[in-house]
Amino acid sequence: MEKDKIELLIDNLATRNIKGYYFNDFNEAKLKIKEIISIEDTIGIGNSITLKNMGISLELKNRGNIVYDKTLAKTKQESKVLKKKSLLVDWYITGTNAVSIGGHIVNMDHSGNRAAAMIYGPENVIIVIGVNKITDDLNEAIFRVRNIASPKNAKRAGLNPPCVDTNECIDCRSEDRVCNNLVIIEGQNDKDRMKVFIVNESDGF
Ligand code: SF4
Repeated sequence: MEKDKIELLIDNLATRNIKGYYFNDFNEAKLKIKEIISIEDTIGIGNSITLKNMGISLELKNRGNIVYDKTLAKTKQESKVLKKKSLLVDWYITGTNAVSIGGHIVNMDHSGNRAAAMIYGPENVIIVIGVNKITDDLNEAIFRVRNIASPKNAKRAGLNPPCVDTNECIDCRSEDRVCNNLVIIEGQNDKDRMKVFIVNESDGF
């Protein structure tokens, strides 16, 4: 993506009290995360293909941080406990489903733990996105979330709502519906609590 578009997004995030950062690749973003988070800090991790591929959770754990990552849970009960512990950490690291150039951060959550942690609880939040998550406006961001991210996330979770076959949202009432919380973050009260790491590569959905 052209750098001037990313710079415009960073400017727009700043008007919303959210700090944007630019990185050439995911490794650069990972180094920055390890630099700004102290080894004494507690960390929660949101379920994200991008973060999984970065391997950030295990790297932070291995260097000594306390990390609550529900994707490492062995049971449903353990996953539930980790999700709750993630609400009171020093840092919450997550992906998101779409970010408009105007700076709307758009999430579709199944149980809502990720959106909850982004909004309130953790002292700091880092959202890592590849440029494939950036959309021209809010409508396109919501379209992306419903018709691209949600069907793929449902499939990844082993669920089978109608969109898994059609790649088109029909606002289903399936038992396997993954779209229970459409959350648009428009800004922050605490300046720079939320940071968006924009990586000029593509990953995740
Ligand atoms: S509401 Fe249903 S059909 Fe639409 S994206 Fe969500 S799970 Fe798929």
